[in-house]
Amino acid sequence: MGNCIYCGKPAGFLRKTHKECKQKHDQGKSEIVSLVGKVGSEGGDLKHLESSIEQVAANSFVDSESLRALVASGWEKAVELAFDDGLLSEQEETALSELKEHFGLSQQALDRTGSYSKLVKGAVLRDIMDGNLPERMKVDGDLPFNLQKTEKVVWVFQNVNYYEEKTRTRYVGGSQGVSIRIAKGLYYRTGAFKGERVQTSETIHADTGLLGITNKHIYFAGPSKMFRIAFNKIVAFEPFSDGIGVQRDAQTAKPQSFQTGDGWFTYNLITNLAQL
Ligand SMILES: [Zn+2]
Repeated sequence: MGNCIYCGKPAGFLRKTHKECKQKHDQGKSEIVSLVGKVGSEGGDLKHLESSIEQVAANSFVDSESLRALVASGWEKAVELAFDDGLLSEQEETALSELKEHFGLSQQALDRTGSYSKLVKGAVLRDIMDGNLPERMKVDGDLPFNLQKTEKVVWVFQNVNYYEEKTRTRYVGGSQGVSIRIAKGLYYRTGAFKGERVQTSETIHADTGLLGITNKHIYFAGPSKMFRIAFNKIVAFEPFSDGIGVQRDAQTAKPQSFQTGDGWFTYNLITNLAQL
């Protein structure tokens, strides 16, 4: 006879749990996550929340270590709920911060799936949309960007893949039967060069490095490419799921794109900063 891992009472031959105990446990866990998620996104009495979830935990065989992990999951759920309507409001940000403080949740524990970063990104975007320059990024060490006097770094993305669109020219068509075989290789007759010039483009991974966004420029710094692009020299932005494409205002400029891993944030950040 084995004992139930939840209630500790005999569970029967070759059994480790009572069906009812397992059910109670699973229900309790999801109740804790949703209680925390609700208060985290809407705000509420944190002391009351704490006693409610402790009660649920006690009734559903959730130990204190598991409870901490569930509170962190609830916080992540709250971030999801807060972004449901698109933008993170100041009240939502406050509720999330207070919840984090009350339960002493670490930034690391909350960023397992990027929820903490998402909160910061949401706050940065709200600052910009309110017409303010965000000062939420602390940079350790020197950045390899030669900033102008009144320029402020708003965000730095690391390990960004930079792509350039290269135009290749080739010739197609021309007269038929243009070549004759001579002793070595092929010899092209003059007629062969009257083909139509066709341009095809191809995207090339040019470098990987830091992408800095300021209130005036996009900076890129990698081992082989370093440059900046002024917002007022960009004529078009293209949103990608994992980054952004830009087209500079010059006849010879080729499309450039940056893969940051987060198209939602990158596109909103850059296009709105360019309007600030
Ligand atoms: Zn049991």
